[in-house]
Amino acid sequence: MKPYDKPLPKIDALNAPYWEGAKAGELRIQACGHCGRHSADPARLCMSCGSPELSWVAASGRARLWSFGIFHKAYFPSFAPDVPYNVAIVELEEGPRLYSNIVGVANDDIKVGMPLKVHFEAVTDGVTLVKFAPAPDGP
Ligand SMILES: [Zn+2]
Repeated sequence: MKPYDKPLPKIDALNAPYWEGAKAGELRIQACGHCGRHSADPARLCMSCGSPELSWVAASGRARLWSFGIFHKAYFPSFAPDVPYNVAIVELEEGPRLYSNIVGVANDDIKVGMPLKVHFEAVTDGVTLVKFAPAPDGP
């Protein structure tokens, strides 16, 4: 594995299931046992109804591009070789939105609303990042 010099996530007790899932090739989100809302931001209480009945479930991995931007400046020196690179807000089929990157497509061909599927990128022995690639068949 190549050395990875970009910032890495801080993995803690709350978000560990997400990162363990990514490492296992599964996109995990939280589901509320009370109101049914899904969330991609690890929390102790449901952001919708306040219930503590949250459990981790596997998302389908199907999504649509909700919004994106192209970064032309490297805010971290380690990103300099990637400029210009995209930063996307992806809306999962289950509802939650999360920040990610779109891979497997030229920045010029990225379109809001395009169907996506989850893509896992192992960057260190411990960390696998969740990215998204175009899904021509659609969600
Ligand atoms: Zn809830």
